[in-house]
Parts: sequence; C-alpha cells; structure tokens
Amino acid sequence: MSRPILTIVVPCYNEEEVLPETAKQLSGLLASLLEDSLISEDSKILFVDDGSKDRTWSLIEQEMENRPFSKGLKLAKNVGHQNALLAGLEIANQQSDCVVSIDADLQDDWNVIRTFVEKYKAGFDVVYGVRDKRDTDTVFKRSTALGFYRFMNRIGINLIPNHADFRLMSKRALDELFKYKEANLFLRGLIPLVGFPSTKVYYDRKERLAGESKYPLKKMIAFAFDGITSFSVTPIRFVTLLGFLSVVISAIAGGYAIFQQIVGHTESGWTSIIISIWFVGGLQLLGIGIIGEYIGKIYREVKQRPRYAIEVDAFSNKNQGKQSL
Ligand code: UDP
Ligand code: MG
Repeated sequence: MSRPILTIVVPCYNEEEVLPETAKQLSGLLASLLEDSLISEDSKILFVDDGSKDRTWSLIEQEMENRPFSKGLKLAKNVGHQNALLAGLEIANQQSDCVVSIDADLQDDWNVIRTFVEKYKAGFDVVYGVRDKRDTDTVFKRSTALGFYRFMNRIGINLIPNHADFRLMSKRALDELFKYKEANLFLRGLIPLVGFPSTKVYYDRKERLAGESKYPLKKMIAFAFDGITSFSVTPIRFVTLLGFLSVVISAIAGGYAIFQQIVGHTESGWTSIIISIWFVGGLQLLGIGIIGEYIGKIYREVKQRPRYAIEVDAFSNKNQGKQSL
C-alpha cells in the first residue's frame, strides 16, 4: 500500500490549555505527510474527549470546523486514559490502515510519526515510540518508572522499557488487540502479546506543553499495581512463600517456647508471643489483600461491562450524515 490511511488518536482529559497548540502542530505534521505523498488524503486526527470538565469538547468542535481532517469523539463520561485510548483506536481502526496514538500534551515528539509511517510501509505492524532521554521528567518519576520496568520484567511481564502509549499499529494488529476483552486494560502490556513484526523508534521526551499531569502519584501507583496484577500471578505465589516461611519460623519459635517452659523460664515468652502474633497477623492481612486484589479483578472481568460509552461520534461516516456511495 503506497499511501495508507493514517489516523492519529489523541485522548484528551481536561486539556483546554494545550489542545489548540496540539491540534495546530499535529495538523501541520499531517499536511506535510500529505504533501510528501506518504499518506492518503483520507487521513485524520481523532481527538477523544474523555469526559472532560473544561472546554476541551468545545475546542474540539471548533477544531472540526476549522480543519476538515480533525475529528472528535466524545465519551459519555471519564473512563481513564487506557479506555479512552481504546475507544479512539476502535473507532479509528474502522476506517484506517494504520493508527498512531499520542498524548494530548505533546510530551512525545510528534516528528517521529513520519518515521513510524516509514516503518509501517517497510512492513512493521507495530512501531513503538521509545523515550531516549527522560531529562525533563522528575528524578522521582524517572526512578520509579525504571524500578517499575525492572520489576515487571523480573516477574515475567514483557514490557518495552520507556515506551508509553506513543505508537503506530496496523489494522490487522489492532483487530487482534480488540479480541482481548479485559476490563482491566493495560495496553502496553497487551500489545507485545499480540505479536506481528514490530520495531522501536527512539525520541526525546519533552516537558508537558501546558497544564498539569493527569497522573498524580495515586493514579500512578494504581496503574502500576493494575499492570502487575493483570498479567502475573507471581504476587500470589510470593504470599504463599511468605506464608510457608512464617510457618517454619513459627515452628522453630514454638519449639523454643516449649523448651523454655520445660526448663522453667516462662516469663521470657511474652515478647516472642507478641512478635509472632503481629508477624503472622501481618502476613495474613497482606495475603488476604493480594488475593482480594485478584478476586476484585475477576469480579470486574466476569461482569463484562462495556469499557466506554460514546456520546458523540464525529468520526464514523454513519453519524456524520456524509453521503457515501
Ligand atoms: N487522559 C485521559 N483520561 C484520563 C487521564 C488522562 O484521556 O482520565 C489523557 C490525557 O489527556 C493525556 C494522556 O491521557 O493526553 C496522558 O496523561 P498525562 O499527560 O496527564 O500523563 P503523564 O504524561 O503525566 O503520565
Ligand atoms: Mg503527559
């Protein structure tokens, strides 16, 4: 395919501060790709409004009026980055040969989208954008991210280090991705599971254009925890191991206590009893907590609730009233 239809999907949650600039830069890119005949004239930018509370949607509407290739998708409520992205990918994939996803804050260098397209044309189904340097991220964010990737790889989850949700996927790769129906969505863990030829493109990560990160520490921890428990049962095994160890330790401590009883030093037992009660109690709580986390996940999965609801779809032809024969 010499000129593929490309759609760039941009999830937006309360992004009024950056949206006009983002739209301007991305449409500049689209125009230059078109000019060089790299992509089809049917290529588009799809802004997904993830239930924003600010003027994001009206800015997207304005954008649609000004630039015919800008499209909007309005979700009925906030469903989080991953689900919003999924909504955009599913809608975009219906009318595209390949889809690029990028955050609205343009921290990821949109210039490399050109390279993404070239790689796609060279036969790759998945092109991962990988951050080369992370100078602009705080030391805290960098070190927690590094620790996270290391931990994930250690427990057997294949993640591309320093790759967030900036990537290109071909139609057939996306078709396969959509067969994964889990409610606990962690796209960057799923996509390597899909397979197909893939490659990486390196770029420098910039600072957020404007506005604040929508991933405060609390959300980051929840996201990491979701990533771990959605792909691995190692934490449960770890609890089993801890339980086993604590039984062994208790047995030794028990033997010691009985021995002390026999020789008549009963008063020395108090400390060890208190310590073991707290130790074992703590282990039990930890174990129940982790098992609960998995049960909670199973609970969410078996309900099979929809992952997002669309309020306005200005992308698909059917809702647009566009004549097509
Ligand atoms: N986002 C979203 N829904 C949410 C939270 C975030 O669609 O509930 C979008 C947000 O607008 C941005 C992307 O997800 O385009 C990544 O968020 P952010 O840049 O705040 O995360 P960070 O780069 O700080 O990890
Ligand atoms: Mg960001």
